Amino acid sequence: MAILGFMDLQALLDDLAREAAPFAARGKVADYIPALAVVDPTCFGIALATTDGQVFGSGHWRVPFSIQSISKAFSLALVLARDGEALWRRVGREPSGNPFNSLVQLEYEKGIPRNPFINAGALILIDRLLSLTGDSLGTLQAFLRAESANPAVGIDQEVAASEAEHGHRNAALAHFMASCGNLENPVDQVLDHYFRQCSLAMSCGDLAKAGLFLANHGLRADGSRLLTRSEAKRTNSIMLTCGTYDTAGDFAYRVGLPGKSGVGGGIVAVLPERGVLCVWSPALDPHGNSVAGVEALDRFTTRTGWSVF
Ligand code: GLU
Repeated sequence: MAILGFMDLQALLDDLAREAAPFAARGKVADYIPALAVVDPTCFGIALATTDGQVFGSGHWRVPFSIQSISKAFSLALVLARDGEALWRRVGREPSGNPFNSLVQLEYEKGIPRNPFINAGALILIDRLLSLTGDSLGTLQAFLRAESANPAVGIDQEVAASEAEHGHRNAALAHFMASCGNLENPVDQVLDHYFRQCSLAMSCGDLAKAGLFLANHGLRADGSRLLTRSEAKRTNSIMLTCGTYDTAGDFAYRVGLPGKSGVGGGIVAVLPERGVLCVWSPALDPHGNSVAGVEALDRFTTRTGWSVF
């Protein structure tokens, strides 16, 4: 696409890496999953994959990190692709306004998670993908490998073990939903796929490429269709309204793009028809978003004018 031609994107990413990385000092690495607490908070990577096939990167953009909740955006797409609107009987699509692992809202709302990106909602996605494919994690991993063209995408076993050992809140959410009749598969099986899915390790470059179908109206890297145009629009919309925890409003205000963050410090943001950005900096704000990552995305859209608004 010609739109990319006039701007030196490599120089821009280098500038953003230099300017945004110091903001990590204002955040704190997630420590409620002990294996994440040992990650070097000074790491910073940024990558941009464009719909015309270019990939730019700066900093630690080739270093794999724990993708955590970024995985949920891909799960949503894989479920919508197979099950369409049926999903919305079991999960809502409103911002939660509550922490991503909150128990209290789930009880008030009778086991129907507010949206697919809080932990309870992601457990529903995995449960459904398990029913539809027999292997939720395997389906997701194969998809991510294909789209990123990286067959080495895999699970960080240490993080997975740490997640499982400290996953009491997620177990509570799953058991509660099972008690409400909103789980089709055994709790332990759903949790096992969830913990391992969150522990997938990918680089900024991998994730930016893997997300391109979202910038391409649902078309995959090989030209086949994963989502209809409308489903791709809906996935992006839910990323915009619910993708960055209980600060999705602030993220939309600052960045103006659909995005999905994870407590590993990564954020994927979609530039419709142009490309996909991924930033990684492990130090988080109190809500779970990468401080330097949001800063870099804010500066990117401010400087380029490339937002959805
Ligand atoms: N595995 C993390 C958890 O369940 C994912 C949290 C996140 O990245 O939002 O708490």
